[in-house]
Amino acid sequence: METILVLTHVDESGSALTKASLEAVTAGVELARQLSAALTIGILGPASAEAANSAAGAVAAPGARLLAVSGEAFAQPRYATDAAGCEALCRAAQASIVLAPGSSRFVRVAAGVAHRLGGFLDTHITSLSSNDCVDATRWFYRQRVEATISREARPWFLLLDAGTHAAFAAEPATAQVEAVDVTLPTTRTTVEGLRSPMRDAQTIRPDAQLLFVAGAGWTKKQPDGQIHVAEAGQLILAFLRLSGASLGSSKSLADQKAEGPGEEQSVLPFLSHMNQIGQTGATPRHAKGLSTCCHGEEPHVVGWRFVGERRAISLDQNCGWTRGKADVVYITDAFQVIAKVNELLQARRS
Ligand SMILES: Cc1cc2nc3c(=O)[nH]c(=O)nc-3n(C[C@H](O)[C@H](O)[C@H](O)COP(=O)(O)OP(=O)(O)OC[C@H]3O[C@@H](n4cnc5c(N)ncnc54)[C@H](O)[C@@H]3O)c2cc1C
Repeated sequence: METILVLTHVDESGSALTKASLEAVTAGVELARQLSAALTIGILGPASAEAANSAAGAVAAPGARLLAVSGEAFAQPRYATDAAGCEALCRAAQASIVLAPGSSRFVRVAAGVAHRLGGFLDTHITSLSSNDCVDATRWFYRQRVEATISREARPWFLLLDAGTHAAFAAEPATAQVEAVDVTLPTTRTTVEGLRSPMRDAQTIRPDAQLLFVAGAGWTKKQPDGQIHVAEAGQLILAFLRLSGASLGSSKSLADQKAEGPGEEQSVLPFLSHMNQIGQTGATPRHAKGLSTCCHGEEPHVVGWRFVGERRAISLDQNCGWTRGKADVVYITDAFQVIAKVNELLQARRS
């Protein structure tokens, strides 16, 4: 008989669970139902009744528990304290299966915690199912090979990829939280604060509804015989600011370097290989994707595998997108379209 623990943590506000944590709660509820297993949810955070209340609906069944480690030590991610907190939650829950979001906070500590518990860890899990045994799936080799993993060893830790489950949503209720004591280790790391890049500089936004992909066409000679890279940069950044979209890039564009002293700098300075989508790039999960000035070559499009509705803007009516790779293709000039869309988004905003 399995016992399932879902490890969760709060977001930067300290009063709500992260979206990825709520996705892990959904996975836990579904797996517990399939296995008729007891479900425990563990929360790591400074002290948050509100965060606990948002997960209360998941532990309404008899035997289900809600555990929390709290205190200022858990206000900020830090290996020593987070590992101690997660270890205490796991020992209190006595779980055979531990699910957790694959967030940077938990990715950092999960292997250490699994080791302390004498357990095993698998990462990048995209789905869970059970018949006689529990099966977990994950992708290998740039999302081309999907594997199904099952293990007899327990406790079994599974880090779930974000965007693979719906976020748990139930009416908040007053949660009965069991406080779990933690013996805090001596800490050598003091978190003094957070410095985040400006919203414009942070172009990779995994939670965005829309993926906006820029291709090399933005830097090519246009019908007037000139290149318009500065204008392209302004249009793309304005679109990202107004729409909140995440920025992706084709390899050809990410590879292009500006000439002169800043040779290591991309021709569009806000772009790096981190933005690259495809065979040798990322495979993000967004509800919608809009490709602009990109040809839709297969090695690029494999990175669109998990993108829901796909649209593309290209001047070339024979581009790859028109051959069944997009739902809608606009054969037109992306400079003009994006300028107009930005104008409309700006008007809607003001
Ligand atoms: C082993 C291997 C791995 C690869 N891995 C990747 C990968 O991971 N990711 C990746 O992206 N690529 C990858 N590639 C490269 C890939 O095959 C393509 O070469 C690349 O994606 C093409 O980039 P692009 O479409 O931006 O540029 P181009 O092929 O140059 O296309 C530019 C497009 O812009 C259009 N255009 C120009 N001006 C405008 C305008 N004003 N309005 C609208 N459209 C306009 C043109 O019509 C053209 O269709 C890989 C290739 C190989 C061999």
